[in-house]
Amino acid sequence: MTSPGASAVLEVDHAAVIANWRALSARHRGGAVAAVVKADAYGLGAALVAPALFGAGCRHFFTAHLGEALALRPRLPGAMLAVLNGLGPAPGADVIEAFAHHDLVPVLGALGEIAAFAAAAGRLRRRLPAILHIDTGMARLGLDARELDCLAQAPELLSGLDLRFVMTHLVAGETAADPLNAAQRQRFASACARLPPAKRSLANSSGIFLGPAFASDLARAGAALYGINPIPHAGIGNPMRLACRLLARVLQVREVPEGAPVGYNATWRAARPSRIATLGIGYADGWPFRLAGQGSAFFDGAPVPLVGRVSMDLTTCDITDHPGIGPGIWLELIGPQAPPERIAALLGTSPYEILTGLGARIARVVLPAAAL
Ligand SMILES: *Cc1c(COP(=O)(O)O)cnc(C)c1O
Repeated sequence: MTSPGASAVLEVDHAAVIANWRALSARHRGGAVAAVVKADAYGLGAALVAPALFGAGCRHFFTAHLGEALALRPRLPGAMLAVLNGLGPAPGADVIEAFAHHDLVPVLGALGEIAAFAAAAGRLRRRLPAILHIDTGMARLGLDARELDCLAQAPELLSGLDLRFVMTHLVAGETAADPLNAAQRQRFASACARLPPAKRSLANSSGIFLGPAFASDLARAGAALYGINPIPHAGIGNPMRLACRLLARVLQVREVPEGAPVGYNATWRAARPSRIATLGIGYADGWPFRLAGQGSAFFDGAPVPLVGRVSMDLTTCDITDHPGIGPGIWLELIGPQAPPERIAALLGTSPYEILTGLGARIARVVLPAAAL
């Protein structure tokens, strides 16, 4: 372990991220695959993941926030760098200037945003790059049916904009049988037919697996790049490589007698004389509070039950059956034995939330390529 003093480490496997991007690119015939690196590349660390993908040939990137894109801009020279949340409502001159001067591409999803960016293009006397977002069923961001009608009737609203892509976002791409997929694809096709000709962007990670009908000029892959299973209901396992491993260090080990309580509110008591190890990770690190009494750490591939409450900075586990564990040992909390999907299932949440929740105190350590 290379991060002095850290008691929790996220090992990040750039070779796996790149292999996943290549596998997705091979599958997405006829179009490119953009890397969605919002939320710090889903927790893995965008500052290093994005340049690694750039080095492998990826030339399209998406963040959610302008600030995320500004931080990455110098590391991705010449690449398209787009901001999913767009300009935001009533964007100030500082926001518009940041997009224009740093060659960032806003995803425009409201007529007001389009007007604001087109006006900026007029002032600057140059075409500004933009992506147009059509809402085909998510009801979250993007032009709704009424706004699409307006734009279709007045395409001059787009003048001054260099329309890089028209995009939409699938609601249920991970469920191949969901009829919403085909409905959204059709709505998207008819929306595009009413707009000036432009390249199209449709699939997210899961959408890439829906087959050639869902291919477009640009897929936008996030989760699958990092190894989250894009086809969780297909029953054939995860086609991606998990690109990170979360390890926490044993800070102390103690012997407790039968009946002794462990942790806040004594929610767990030893049913036998037990050895308890305390790990240097807690809910302030994004290790979920609700895992109390559930889940396992792993030692040499063997499960080590987590016991008692998860505290802010510490988590306890019962190592009675693992004499090899002592202070200083690193246990695996997320990894091949404990994929994010399994932890998410215990908590009734999404694996996306497990990875993106990992906090800033966890040291991100990039695996050397030679160790792969
Ligand atoms: C987050 C996001 C993506 C990436 O989705 P994944 O399921 O992680 O591949 C793509 N498009 C939009 C609009 C998004 O918000």
